[in-house]
Amino acid sequence: MLSLKTEKIKKIISQIGLSQTKSKNLKKMAHQLIKGGGVKPDWNYLESLAGVGHKTASVVMAQWYGIPAFPVDTHIHRLASRWGLSKAKNVEMTEKDLKKLWPKQLWNKRHLQIIFFGREYCPARNHNLLECPICSWASTKKRILQESNKM
Ligand code: SF4
Repeated sequence: MLSLKTEKIKKIISQIGLSQTKSKNLKKMAHQLIKGGGVKPDWNYLESLAGVGHKTASVVMAQWYGIPAFPVDTHIHRLASRWGLSKAKNVEMTEKDLKKLWPKQLWNKRHLQIIFFGREYCPARNHNLLECPICSWASTKKRILQESNKM
């Protein structure tokens, strides 16, 4: 990766969004990884890599190293709010709330369960929360009304 020009990396990953920024980050990250000795289960190190934030570091920790983590992306953030599991306004606070709900050894599994369920069944927009037994039971009246007003 390090030996490739940024433009070449961009071409390889052109099907994904933000390929301009991501190609620059990948090249920089390749340099950092070679200098730093590869990927390691170290929060500070992972989050210091170009383009890697807390969520990506959490995915690596959870899925590659099996270390308990709870990566929260916008989908999990939205579902935690719809399901009344968190009132947090940002992903950091949602992560804290979700971690309190289950023992550490279940975090990695729960994170995947929510992601896969959400991808399969829960559209982000133009969605009537009263149409399924989960949100119609778990969501607050305020949330149901807010989302129905946006349809
Ligand atoms: S109403 Fe059902 S399908 Fe829609 S977001 Fe809630 S749980 Fe998902």
